[in-house]
Amino acid sequence: MSDISAEGRLLEQGKIDTLHGAILYVEELSVVFDGFRAINKLNLSIDNGELRCVIGPNGAGKTTLMDVITGKTRSPMADISGSVFLGQTMDLRRMNEAAIAQAGIGRKFQKPTVFEEHRVWENLYIAMAGNKHWLTTLRARLDAAGKARMEQVLAQVRLESEAYQIAGTLSHGQKQRLEIGMLLMQQPQLLLLDEPVAGMTDQETMELAELLNQLRGHCSMMVVEHDMDFVAALSGDTGKVTVLAEGSTLAEGTLAQVRQDPKVIESYLGR
Ligand code: ADP
Ligand code: MG
Repeated sequence: MSDISAEGRLLEQGKIDTLHGAILYVEELSVVFDGFRAINKLNLSIDNGELRCVIGPNGAGKTTLMDVITGKTRSPMADISGSVFLGQTMDLRRMNEAAIAQAGIGRKFQKPTVFEEHRVWENLYIAMAGNKHWLTTLRARLDAAGKARMEQVLAQVRLESEAYQIAGTLSHGQKQRLEIGMLLMQQPQLLLLDEPVAGMTDQETMELAELLNQLRGHCSMMVVEHDMDFVAALSGDTGKVTVLAEGSTLAEGTLAQVRQDPKVIESYLGR
């Protein structure tokens, strides 16, 4: 497939808008699995520093979008066309999963994946090293900058009092926060969170909303979620919400605007 050169041409012709401070730029993205169109000419752009909520019915293509952004799904696993850029210059479709993570995209999956048998601070330490040779890393000394970063992240995810606790003994909500902390140790530019509050109590859900709200300014975020109270807590009165359906953007606007949109009520919220 030679749509790489097509993308290059779009860039040269100035058809890809990279001048408006977008951290993520998705243009005319299509992802087809065995003839099934999971993403269909999707256009989406997230501003630098923005926290964008993405909602939509099951099967809308939300996870597939994250899979393509992170390089988990690439050609020829699926028939992919269109552009996905990080910032102005990083053409994510030309990069593999490791290079994309290295470039500053962190992803939080639904199930927390922490090192259960290690202490909270050790989990953060391992994450800082990018999971490479973590045993060697654990034995090595933490330098001043690393120590400062760890303290900052422990405070951000509110696990200061649990720093020496074995991760396996944390509550579900604390494990979710630890995993976010592990992502933050890598100082990501963009964090992707796929249904982060599934399985959480109402209180844990609101704590996570508060935590993500406080991360504004530290990194940009894209959050996929069905929990409307959580989405409301993140988007407030002015934040932009994107509604995906059948692989394309069905509506975009404030939560109040998209909730009143007849197309959205019909395909998602009305049910
Ligand atoms: P969402 O996260 O919005 O619920 P998904 O992105 O998981 O939706 O799925 C979108 C559609 O693409 C679904 O119909 C799903 O079955 C299909 N799909 C996702 N990944 C694959 C794959 N690897 N192979 C075939 N079909 C897939
Ligand atoms: Mg999904």
